[in-house]
Amino acid sequence: MIKIDQLYKDFGKLQVLKGISTSIKEGEVVAIIGPSGSGKSTFLRCINLLEKPTTGRIFINNQDITEKKTNIMDIRQNVGMVFQHFHLFPHMTVLGNLIYAPMKVKGQTKQEAEKLGLELLAKVGLSDKANEYPKRLSGGQKQRVAIARALAMQPEVMLFDEPTSALDPEMVKEVLDVMKSLAHTGMTMAIVTHEMGFAREVADRVLFLDGGKLVEDAPPQEFFTKPKSGRARDFLQKML
Ligand code: ADP
Ligand code: MG
Repeated sequence: MIKIDQLYKDFGKLQVLKGISTSIKEGEVVAIIGPSGSGKSTFLRCINLLEKPTTGRIFINNQDITEKKTNIMDIRQNVGMVFQHFHLFPHMTVLGNLIYAPMKVKGQTKQEAEKLGLELLAKVGLSDKANEYPKRLSGGQKQRVAIARALAMQPEVMLFDEPTSALDPEMVKEVLDVMKSLAHTGMTMAIVTHEMGFAREVADRVLFLDGGKLVEDAPPQEFFTKPKSGRARDFLQKML
């Protein structure tokens, strides 16, 4: 579903991604791990064109999204993203957050958008919060709303950038559980995470980035038990 071919990204003189090539199959769950500053967020952000690749190509369903003629809004509709810091619209209710883009971008009627929004809130366990404002929710609840909001666009791919890193420890599980059940529905997912247990249990593959390079690309049982590179071994020793 996603093919990444020799992806390079520079910020001025700083080379952040140095020739990453990989692919993600439909329904696959890929965990992206690596040290801080290794380029994980930049990599994800290139996949939905929040960053423009410097060179290299990214195909989604055989469409080269790095071509000039690509409509960025179409790509972002199809590739949902969840951030560390939620980014909910503070002046809208929870349901308001969920229906905004489907109405505005996809032209859904309020009735259609609310129907789907309420279904999604039920899926993330927040049916009772539809009319609440974000500031009255816990971090874990906010992140579950953010996931539901991304799903409301009915994307084919979901990207997560450290979705549990800003949460108090007791709220991590409720968010990971929602992500796990989403994985079981067959959603194609790429997840930057420091939750090694989750990566091990839920991911089909682990990508290990270091210094802007894809150093390892392996199934979790292989990556976590016998990483090939010294850099991955060092990283895991610090994490586990
Ligand atoms: P990670 O998510 O693995 O911590 P990032 O992709 O956020 O890494 O960042 C990789 C490097 O790119 C860092 O050195 C960071 O400072 C730099 N960087 C990221 N975004 C920008 C930007 N918009 N402008 C300049 N430098 C950036
Ligand atoms: Mg990051």
